[in-house]
Amino acid sequence: MKRILLKMSGESLMGKQKTGIDPEMLNAFAKEIADVSQQKTQVAIVVGGGNIFRGLKGAAQGFDRVKGDQMGMMATVINSLALQSALQSMNVKARVYTAIRMEPVGNLYDRDEAIEAMENNEVVIVSGGTGNPFFTTDTAAALRAVELNADALLKATRVDGVYTADPEKDPKATRFDEITFAECLKNEYKILDLTAFTMCKENDMPIIVFNFHEQGSLNALISGKKVGTIVRN
Ligand code: UDP
Repeated sequence: MKRILLKMSGESLMGKQKTGIDPEMLNAFAKEIADVSQQKTQVAIVVGGGNIFRGLKGAAQGFDRVKGDQMGMMATVINSLALQSALQSMNVKARVYTAIRMEPVGNLYDRDEAIEAMENNEVVIVSGGTGNPFFTTDTAAALRAVELNADALLKATRVDGVYTADPEKDPKATRFDEITFAECLKNEYKILDLTAFTMCKENDMPIIVFNFHEQGSLNALISGKKVGTIVRN
């Protein structure tokens, strides 16, 4: 793959903590990304914010939904800065773009500039989601993957692909190597939220679901090894 869009959830950064960022976890993920950035693959990343704040959860507690979503988007910026800092400490060039203007924290997202940075071997972290409330970072990942002409959206999870049932609950669940968007819809397999899923389906953007907690999995995937499940039309 020449160019990938990696989607990491905010929750994955918590490690065993109940909230926030576990530095050990952060560094472990950064190391995996650093290894891949040494290859020729260009890397763009979208990180979620669920380890800090989610608008929907906030709304359930009485927060205004739009304010809550803005807080959630800020949370993704916090996580992105943490990841940038971890990558830089490993001598990996990394830049953070923000969907909402907030220089000097990061430059306002610019698609052409982001592509140029990736072509110059910089890891690009696109923070702030889509910049709009009522969306998720899954949708931001789908949007950026399409905009940046990524070869695939890599959905980092803690399971190694798409299963017939939740493998953490059902021992009989079997894993797919490949599955179509239509089959996922028919069987109600949830890969990304529906908005993000539709965006990928309509724009022919393959999604690869893989276990980012398994050491070397990202590298193996990029080297063309069969890792995780690929979802395509
Ligand atoms: N969010 C938003 N618009 C976006 C992306 C994210 O409003 O385009 C907000 C939303 O409140 C969401 C929060 O940011 O709950 C954190 O993102 P998400 O839940 O997608 O993070 P993840 O589950 O991947 O950690």
